[in-house]
Amino acid sequence: MAIIRTKAIILRHTTEREHDRMLTILTPAKGQLRVRARGTKKSASKLGGSLEPMMEVDLSLADGRITDVVTGSIILHRFPGLRQDVVGMTMAQWFLELVESVTKPDQPAEELYEQVREMLLMMENEQELTSGQRWLLLNRRALQIMIHEGFAPAMDACSICHLPLGDEAVSYDAQQGFVHTKEAHDGALSLSSASTAFLRDGRQPENDRAVFRQTHELVERLVHHTLDRPLKSERVLRTVVRTTKLPKPAL
Ligand SMILES: [Zn+2]
Repeated sequence: MAIIRTKAIILRHTTEREHDRMLTILTPAKGQLRVRARGTKKSASKLGGSLEPMMEVDLSLADGRITDVVTGSIILHRFPGLRQDVVGMTMAQWFLELVESVTKPDQPAEELYEQVREMLLMMENEQELTSGQRWLLLNRRALQIMIHEGFAPAMDACSICHLPLGDEAVSYDAQQGFVHTKEAHDGALSLSSASTAFLRDGRQPENDRAVFRQTHELVERLVHHTLDRPLKSERVLRTVVRTTKLPKPAL
């Protein structure tokens, strides 16, 4: 029986046949995979604790008849910073659901793997930011992942006239992609120059509500266009962000 070893980021897990756990993982060499971990509910001490979503692990996989089977697991990174607060955790769940939705099975994904891993590490260290700022950064990362996976066009050239998109306002339309505003269809989303600078170059705006609104709407439109539905964790994320923005009640 061939055993392979691979690094993996656990995107999701479900329990099956009472004791088995099915994992959806992202791996550098094979992209997204579904693997089975046998009996981990019963013998929780052996594998279970190291097979939670939002962890990076070093897995040993044995060829199974239908799905590969986990025979060993070593935790490489738990992303503890993401587990410490509900905002970080909810955002990471939303992010991993997006990654799961836009990545393909059985395709090398070395670059994507590193990108996802780095983004999780960055998200871990953003607890001092407001939830609004963290959400803004999360949306930019979602856009980068979708561009990387070919579900969103790059933001550097207008898809109609092919001239560069400079620092002026840009519009996004699901059919057209990113275009100069004067060439955009009716109903296209206008992105201010501050939004464009943030999304493309990462230049952080100063408490700019419009950038927040436009960035959020852009990612929402892209997700709908790509998946035909919102992400399942979208509603929870909204609720959590909204709740944490409320001032703390006086004691
Ligand atoms: Zn143009």
